[in-house]
Amino acid sequence: MTSTPTGDARGTVLVVNSGSSSVKYQLVDPASGEAVASGLVERIGEPRGAVKHVAHGETTRRELPVPDHAEALRIVLGLFDEIGPDLSAAHVVAVGHRVVQGGSRFDGPVLVDDAVEHAIEELSPLAPLHNPPNLTGIRVAQALLPDVPHVAVFDTAFFRTLPDAAATYAIDTAVAEQHQVRRYGAHGTSHQYVSQQVAEVLGRPLEDLHQIVLHLGNGASASAVRGGVAVETSMGLTPLEGLVMGTRSGDVDPAVVFHLHRNAGMSVDEIDDLLNRRSGLKGLSGENDFRALHELVDAGDPRARLALDVYLHRLRKYVGAYHAVLGRLDVLTFTAGVGENDDLVRARLVEGLDAMGIEVDPERNAGRKGEPTVISPEGARVTVLVVPTNEELAIARQALDVTGA
Ligand code: ADP
Repeated sequence: MTSTPTGDARGTVLVVNSGSSSVKYQLVDPASGEAVASGLVERIGEPRGAVKHVAHGETTRRELPVPDHAEALRIVLGLFDEIGPDLSAAHVVAVGHRVVQGGSRFDGPVLVDDAVEHAIEELSPLAPLHNPPNLTGIRVAQALLPDVPHVAVFDTAFFRTLPDAAATYAIDTAVAEQHQVRRYGAHGTSHQYVSQQVAEVLGRPLEDLHQIVLHLGNGASASAVRGGVAVETSMGLTPLEGLVMGTRSGDVDPAVVFHLHRNAGMSVDEIDDLLNRRSGLKGLSGENDFRALHELVDAGDPRARLALDVYLHRLRKYVGAYHAVLGRLDVLTFTAGVGENDDLVRARLVEGLDAMGIEVDPERNAGRKGEPTVISPEGARVTVLVVPTNEELAIARQALDVTGA
């Protein structure tokens, strides 16, 4: 989705998501919600990096060495200069940075200063693969764009409100406190954005709604949101807990780790790799993309069928549990790659849930949904919706809120 800049007086926000070997970016017009330009630099630090820049409806691809994040962002700014849109004409009023782990400290977006940078660094043991590159991205972007405010938007912030009963693991308190072991959640920006969109779409006050949001992408998480406040979520200390995901196991008995270490001689790093990258749908069936998985199921592949059954069973357990946590359920919303596009997953999830008031209308549910759509039948007790998530827009709007631009 691209267009030329609107020239809106409020200006645009550059959203940066800096990973260990990639930088994703989007120039967002927060007023219209449009992505004016977007792109991705991949394989940073490898001999051949890949760059993709989408602007004016055209995609530019380049392959070149990108030694580090500083060079990646220099290349990005060079592409804006060369191909457009012209960043000075686009009136960039803030840069919004996605930061994965905000720990117990951050319950909302903050203007980046030395103390914030230090805190992000201190929280790195909780997200060793994510916070360090997030911070590098912030530092590099500040050096290249020193005249605009930089805002950190934390993936955990929306879940800072989890009651202690939901955020606390039942392990020795002293150990937990010393090592900051608690449930922080993830995908918070998406859960917050979608739950707010739901209220807007339904024209009902957010304060009145008891909601479950299912963010089903390659990573997947569920949340329970009461009156706009998150009260439960399925991801925990890290994004490994909870639902079955593309390559992540989600919930397992922690003793699986001891068992594999003691009996299979696997190291902690090997088990980490197993549970994060070789498990979930991929581990069960060899496929982590639902389109391919459905093809295997249709072809009668028993592993694929089991994978889908395990995925749906886990999801259904969470819906039931969150219904109980909320006491009353008004809205159930699907979002992200699977939630927005896979009508079969949506239909199969709600099978047998009609006694809980959860059902979908087959015609309303059919097909991919590019915009907010009610898929429950008229008069259903629980309104079931599909709402496309837009984390970049959410980050851009939060950045504006903080800078007051
Ligand atoms: P990420 O967690 O990487 O942000 P996304 O939210 O983009 O993931 O979701 C990616 C997943 O969405 C894919 O792995 C695939 O399973 C699913 N998906 C995407 N398009 C479709 C589609 N048309 N039908 C079914 N599933 C889809």
